[in-house]
Amino acid sequence: MSKNKTAAKAGLMARLDRGPVICAEGYLFELERRGYLQAGAYVPEVVLEHPELVEQLHREFVHAGSDVVEAFTYYAHRQKLRVIGREKDLKPMNLAALAIARKVARDTGTLLAGNICNTTIYDPKDPATIKTVRAMFEEQVGWAVDSGVDFIIGETFGYTQEALLALDVIKQAGQVAVITLAAHKGRTREGWSWANAARRLEQAGADVVGLNCTRGPASMLPLLAAMRKAVKCHVAALPVPYRTTRARPSFQSLTDHGCACLPGGHAFPIALDPFTCNRFEIAAFGAAAYGMGIHYLGVCCGAGPHHVRALAEAVGKRPPAMRYTADMSKHYLFGRATLGKTSRQKAEDRRFAKAIVQA
Ligand SMILES: [Zn+2]
Repeated sequence: MSKNKTAAKAGLMARLDRGPVICAEGYLFELERRGYLQAGAYVPEVVLEHPELVEQLHREFVHAGSDVVEAFTYYAHRQKLRVIGREKDLKPMNLAALAIARKVARDTGTLLAGNICNTTIYDPKDPATIKTVRAMFEEQVGWAVDSGVDFIIGETFGYTQEALLALDVIKQAGQVAVITLAAHKGRTREGWSWANAARRLEQAGADVVGLNCTRGPASMLPLLAAMRKAVKCHVAALPVPYRTTRARPSFQSLTDHGCACLPGGHAFPIALDPFTCNRFEIAAFGAAAYGMGIHYLGVCCGAGPHHVRALAEAVGKRPPAMRYTADMSKHYLFGRATLGKTSRQKAEDRRFAKAIVQA
């Protein structure tokens, strides 16, 4: 094992043993909102077309409190690139994403994470797809290792079996593995309970197991509690910042009754705005999850830097962006920013402030 790799292993696992580690995700949604990535295919072409914007977003998330810079290789796999007719760009896209992330991680002293994800073609009943999926993981993990990652994230798997395959490839490469599943329904796609899935992943050598994406804080926390109880290893929790419920547990299942303008009535994926969690809700989630003993925390699709900062602060971190954390005492109407005002102006402001918050 190289000196580098030894230090890397100590990096993530030692940090988790000490306390919370924040990993910002949600690059697809954020860059789609900004107009540099297409919803639907959701391929991170932006890493080749506007690398400066990807670098900037990495820096914004670190500024907000992320301890990890996750290379933007989510859906930069062979199947997705084939779908959009850019298979020839597979390797350049992966290497570019890894180089951008490495630059920011090295500049900021954060951890560099490689990333692989659900391939969209895995079929447990078809051995041919299993072979294809393994080859897809191997090529991406190989590029991540060559780029000097500190650990590798395998994420958003509906099938635990596909996650186990990803885990095997990551461990074969000698890397620390963070494996997170996507809980679309009450069980995994093969019908396993979340506790069972977590146990199997831990037994297969995962260093961190958990959930990411798909569910908001309210519908993810109960599943996390079951997973936390089921394993001894560290657990990861990275919900989407949307108000999912018991009846509508995934962001795919949210229906917006506030308008009649949605195709098919589905808010997913580009009309979820009315369901967005505020910072207080994300902070409450962070405190609850950390209170359960979950140390690897983040926010997935839909997250903005303000969510990441709220999460980081909720678990006792002091990110650089904390300098600008809200202080409403300085507000001219709702605070005490009365410098230079006469008694009459102050009384009038108090009256006006009271009036405008009333319906
Ligand atoms: Zn996501």
